[in-house]
Amino acid sequence: MPKTKALRDAQALSTTVERYDAINARIAKAVKTAGRNPDDVTLIAISKTYDADAIRPLLEHGHRYFGENRVQEAQEKWPALCEQFSDVSLHLVGQLQSNKAEDAVALFDAIHSLDRPSLVTAIAKAQEKLGRKPELFIQVNIGDEAQKGGCAVADLPNLIAQAREAGLEISGLMCIPPADLEAAPYFALLRKIANDHGIKKLSMGMSDDFETAVQTGATHVRVGSALFGARS
Ligand SMILES: *Cc1c(COP(=O)(O)O)cnc(C)c1O
Repeated sequence: MPKTKALRDAQALSTTVERYDAINARIAKAVKTAGRNPDDVTLIAISKTYDADAIRPLLEHGHRYFGENRVQEAQEKWPALCEQFSDVSLHLVGQLQSNKAEDAVALFDAIHSLDRPSLVTAIAKAQEKLGRKPELFIQVNIGDEAQKGGCAVADLPNLIAQAREAGLEISGLMCIPPADLEAAPYFALLRKIANDHGIKKLSMGMSDDFETAVQTGATHVRVGSALFGARS
Protein backbone atom coordinates (compact mmCIF):
# COMPACT_ATOMS: atom_id res chain seq x y z
CA MET A 1 0.00 0.00 0.00
CA PRO A 2 1.46 3.42 -0.90
CA LYS A 3 2.13 5.66 2.05
CA THR A 4 -0.11 8.65 2.39
CA LYS A 5 1.35 12.13 2.66
CA ALA A 6 0.15 12.26 6.27
CA LEU A 7 2.10 9.12 7.11
CA ARG A 8 5.27 10.36 5.43
CA ASP A 9 4.99 13.62 7.36
CA ALA A 10 4.42 11.68 10.58
CA GLN A 11 7.45 9.48 10.01
CA ALA A 12 9.71 12.47 9.51
CA LEU A 13 9.23 13.23 13.21
CA SER A 14 10.58 10.64 15.58
CA THR A 15 8.33 10.65 18.62
CA THR A 16 4.61 10.67 19.20
CA VAL A 17 4.96 13.83 21.28
CA GLU A 18 6.81 15.62 18.43
CA ARG A 19 4.11 14.56 16.00
CA TYR A 20 1.45 15.67 18.47
CA ASP A 21 2.94 19.14 18.77
CA ALA A 22 3.20 19.42 14.98
CA ILE A 23 -0.43 18.33 14.49
CA ASN A 24 -1.61 20.80 17.14
CA ALA A 25 0.30 23.58 15.36
CA ARG A 26 -1.40 22.65 12.09
CA ILE A 27 -4.81 22.65 13.80
CA ALA A 28 -4.06 26.04 15.34
CA LYS A 29 -3.17 27.42 11.92
CA ALA A 30 -6.35 26.04 10.33
CA VAL A 31 -8.41 27.44 13.22
CA LYS A 32 -6.86 30.85 12.65
CA THR A 33 -7.34 30.76 8.87
CA ALA A 34 -11.00 29.91 9.41
CA GLY A 35 -11.42 32.68 11.98
CA ARG A 36 -12.57 30.16 14.59
CA ASN A 37 -11.97 29.91 18.32
CA PRO A 38 -9.17 27.44 19.25
CA ASP A 39 -11.24 26.18 22.20
CA ASP A 40 -13.91 24.98 19.77
CA VAL A 41 -11.76 22.23 18.27
CA THR A 42 -10.80 19.08 20.17
CA LEU A 43 -8.10 16.72 18.92
CA ILE A 44 -8.98 13.11 19.71
CA ALA A 45 -5.92 10.85 19.58
CA ILE A 46 -7.09 7.57 18.07
CA SER A 47 -4.99 4.97 19.87
CA LYS A 48 -6.56 1.79 18.48
CA THR A 49 -4.03 -1.05 18.06
CA TYR A 50 -1.46 0.88 20.14
CA ASP A 51 -0.68 -0.32 23.65
CA ALA A 52 -0.40 1.54 26.94
CA ASP A 53 3.34 2.15 26.51
CA ALA A 54 2.72 3.94 23.22
CA ILE A 55 -0.09 6.02 24.72
CA ARG A 56 1.54 7.05 28.03
CA PRO A 57 3.95 9.68 26.60
CA LEU A 58 0.96 11.66 25.31
CA LEU A 59 -0.77 11.44 28.69
CA GLU A 60 2.42 12.61 30.39
CA HIS A 61 2.59 15.45 27.84
CA GLY A 62 -0.85 16.55 29.07
CA HIS A 63 -3.18 15.26 26.36
CA ARG A 64 -6.47 13.87 27.63
CA TYR A 65 -8.76 13.06 24.67
CA PHE A 66 -8.41 9.57 23.26
CA GLY A 67 -10.42 7.38 20.91
CA GLU A 68 -10.75 3.65 20.42
CA ASN A 69 -12.78 1.66 17.90
CA ARG A 70 -13.36 -1.54 19.87
CA VAL A 71 -15.03 -1.84 23.26
CA GLN A 72 -13.05 -4.89 24.32
CA GLU A 73 -9.67 -3.45 23.35
CA ALA A 74 -10.50 -0.28 25.30
CA GLN A 75 -11.56 -2.33 28.33
CA GLU A 76 -8.20 -4.08 28.29
CA LYS A 77 -6.10 -0.91 28.01
CA TRP A 78 -7.84 2.02 29.60
CA PRO A 79 -8.96 1.27 33.16
CA ALA A 80 -5.32 1.04 34.32
CA LEU A 81 -4.34 4.23 32.47
CA CYS A 82 -7.40 6.07 33.81
CA GLU A 83 -6.41 5.13 37.33
CA GLN A 84 -3.22 7.11 36.84
CA PHE A 85 -4.74 9.89 34.69
CA SER A 86 -8.24 10.24 36.09
CA ASP A 87 -9.39 13.11 33.87
CA VAL A 88 -9.05 11.23 30.57
CA SER A 89 -11.94 11.66 28.13
CA LEU A 90 -12.44 8.39 26.26
CA HIS A 91 -14.27 8.34 22.91
CA LEU A 92 -15.68 5.31 21.07
CA VAL A 93 -15.36 5.88 17.33
CA GLY A 94 -15.97 2.35 16.00
CA GLN A 95 -19.10 0.38 15.27
CA LEU A 96 -21.01 -0.63 18.38
CA GLN A 97 -23.02 -3.83 18.73
CA SER A 98 -26.19 -3.49 20.77
CA ASN A 99 -25.07 -6.20 23.18
CA LYS A 100 -21.96 -4.11 23.98
CA ALA A 101 -23.92 -0.91 24.59
CA GLU A 102 -23.86 -1.28 28.37
CA ASP A 103 -20.08 -1.85 28.42
CA ALA A 104 -19.64 1.17 26.16
CA VAL A 105 -21.82 3.45 28.30
CA ALA A 106 -19.91 2.29 31.39
CA LEU A 107 -16.45 3.03 29.96
CA PHE A 108 -16.69 5.84 27.41
CA ASP A 109 -17.28 9.57 27.86
CA ALA A 110 -18.49 9.93 24.28
CA ILE A 111 -19.87 7.57 21.62
CA HIS A 112 -19.46 8.72 18.00
CA SER A 113 -21.11 5.73 16.29
CA LEU A 114 -24.80 5.79 17.16
CA ASP A 115 -26.31 4.81 13.82
CA ARG A 116 -29.54 2.81 14.15
CA PRO A 117 -32.79 2.45 16.09
CA SER A 118 -31.78 -0.74 17.96
CA LEU A 119 -28.74 1.07 19.33
CA VAL A 120 -30.86 4.02 20.49
CA THR A 121 -32.91 1.56 22.53
CA ALA A 122 -29.84 -0.23 23.93
CA ILE A 123 -28.03 2.99 24.87
CA ALA A 124 -31.13 4.49 26.49
CA LYS A 125 -31.53 1.34 28.59
CA ALA A 126 -27.85 1.31 29.58
CA GLN A 127 -27.91 5.01 30.53
CA GLU A 128 -30.94 4.44 32.72
CA LYS A 129 -29.38 1.41 34.38
CA LEU A 130 -25.93 2.92 34.97
CA GLY A 131 -26.92 6.54 35.60
CA ARG A 132 -24.24 7.63 33.13
CA LYS A 133 -24.70 9.73 30.01
CA PRO A 134 -21.81 9.71 27.54
CA GLU A 135 -21.96 12.45 24.96
CA LEU A 136 -23.63 11.04 21.83
CA PHE A 137 -22.83 11.60 18.15
CA ILE A 138 -24.83 10.05 15.32
CA GLN A 139 -22.60 8.59 12.62
CA VAL A 140 -23.90 9.56 9.19
CA ASN A 141 -23.06 7.60 6.04
CA ILE A 142 -22.44 10.88 4.30
CA GLY A 143 -21.46 9.43 0.90
CA ASP A 144 -24.30 6.85 0.99
CA GLU A 145 -21.76 4.07 0.43
CA ALA A 146 -23.12 0.51 0.53
CA GLN A 147 -20.19 -0.90 2.54
CA LYS A 148 -19.96 1.91 5.11
CA GLY A 149 -21.44 2.13 8.57
CA GLY A 150 -23.54 5.02 9.68
CA CYS A 151 -27.13 6.12 9.29
CA ALA A 152 -28.26 6.84 5.72
CA VAL A 153 -28.78 10.56 5.16
CA ALA A 154 -32.44 9.87 4.29
CA ASP A 155 -33.03 8.00 7.58
CA LEU A 156 -31.43 10.62 9.78
CA PRO A 157 -34.52 12.71 10.63
CA ASN A 158 -36.30 9.59 11.95
CA LEU A 159 -33.29 8.45 13.96
CA ILE A 160 -32.86 11.87 15.56
CA ALA A 161 -36.56 11.96 16.43
CA GLN A 162 -36.43 8.47 17.90
CA ALA A 163 -33.33 9.29 19.96
CA ARG A 164 -34.90 12.43 21.34
CA GLU A 165 -38.11 10.55 22.21
CA ALA A 166 -36.03 7.97 24.07
CA GLY A 167 -34.52 10.78 26.13
CA LEU A 168 -31.11 10.72 24.44
CA GLU A 169 -29.42 14.03 23.90
CA ILE A 170 -27.67 14.14 20.51
CA SER A 171 -24.63 16.40 20.81
CA GLY A 172 -23.19 15.95 17.38
CA LEU A 173 -22.87 14.21 14.04
CA MET A 174 -19.91 12.16 12.86
CA CYS A 175 -18.85 11.11 9.37
CA ILE A 176 -16.12 9.39 7.40
CA PRO A 177 -16.22 10.70 3.80
CA PRO A 178 -15.65 8.34 0.87
CA ALA A 179 -11.96 7.45 0.45
CA ASP A 180 -10.11 8.96 -2.50
CA LEU A 181 -12.60 11.77 -3.04
CA GLU A 182 -12.22 15.37 -1.96
CA ALA A 183 -13.52 15.48 1.62
CA ALA A 184 -14.54 19.15 1.86
CA PRO A 185 -17.96 18.84 0.14
CA TYR A 186 -18.89 15.95 2.47
CA PHE A 187 -17.78 17.89 5.55
CA ALA A 188 -19.83 20.86 4.35
CA LEU A 189 -22.86 18.62 3.82
CA LEU A 190 -22.56 17.19 7.35
CA ARG A 191 -22.34 20.70 8.73
CA LYS A 192 -25.48 21.73 6.84
CA ILE A 193 -27.42 18.68 8.03
CA ALA A 194 -26.36 19.28 11.64
CA ASN A 195 -27.37 22.91 11.34
CA ASP A 196 -30.80 21.94 9.95
CA HIS A 197 -31.39 19.78 13.05
CA GLY A 198 -30.02 22.22 15.61
CA ILE A 199 -27.05 19.94 16.35
CA LYS A 200 -23.89 21.78 17.36
CA LYS A 201 -20.92 19.41 17.26
CA LEU A 202 -19.19 17.86 14.27
CA SER A 203 -16.82 14.90 14.55
CA MET A 204 -15.01 14.88 11.22
CA GLY A 205 -11.47 14.84 9.88
CA MET A 206 -8.76 12.18 10.24
CA SER A 207 -5.00 12.03 9.56
CA ASP A 208 -5.28 13.02 5.89
CA ASP A 209 -7.92 15.72 6.10
CA PHE A 210 -8.14 17.20 9.59
CA GLU A 211 -7.16 20.70 8.46
CA THR A 212 -9.90 20.71 5.80
CA ALA A 213 -12.32 19.50 8.47
CA VAL A 214 -11.32 22.29 10.86
CA GLN A 215 -11.82 24.84 8.10
CA THR A 216 -15.27 23.36 7.42
CA GLY A 217 -16.41 23.52 11.05
CA ALA A 218 -15.22 20.32 12.78
CA THR A 219 -15.40 20.50 16.57
CA HIS A 220 -13.71 17.09 17.00
CA VAL A 221 -10.97 15.73 14.74
CA ARG A 222 -9.97 12.07 15.08
CA VAL A 223 -6.30 11.56 14.31
CA GLY A 224 -4.60 8.16 14.56
CA SER A 225 -1.79 7.20 12.21
CA ALA A 226 -0.37 10.72 11.75
CA LEU A 227 0.17 10.67 15.52
CA PHE A 228 1.09 7.11 16.49
CA GLY A 229 2.41 5.85 13.13
CA ALA A 230 1.08 3.26 10.68
CA ARG A 231 -1.07 0.49 12.12
CA SER A 232 -0.14 -3.08 11.26
C1 LIG B 1 -9.05 4.69 12.85
C2 LIG B 1 -10.05 5.77 12.84
C3 LIG B 1 -9.65 7.11 12.80
C4 LIG B 1 -8.20 7.55 12.68
O1 LIG B 1 -7.75 7.28 11.39
P1 LIG B 1 -6.32 7.82 10.86
O2 LIG B 1 -6.49 7.89 9.40
O3 LIG B 1 -5.33 6.82 11.31
O4 LIG B 1 -6.11 9.15 11.47
C5 LIG B 1 -10.63 8.08 12.85
N1 LIG B 1 -11.94 7.75 12.92
C6 LIG B 1 -12.36 6.47 12.95
C7 LIG B 1 -13.82 6.20 13.03
C8 LIG B 1 -11.44 5.44 12.90
O5 LIG B 1 -11.85 4.18 12.93
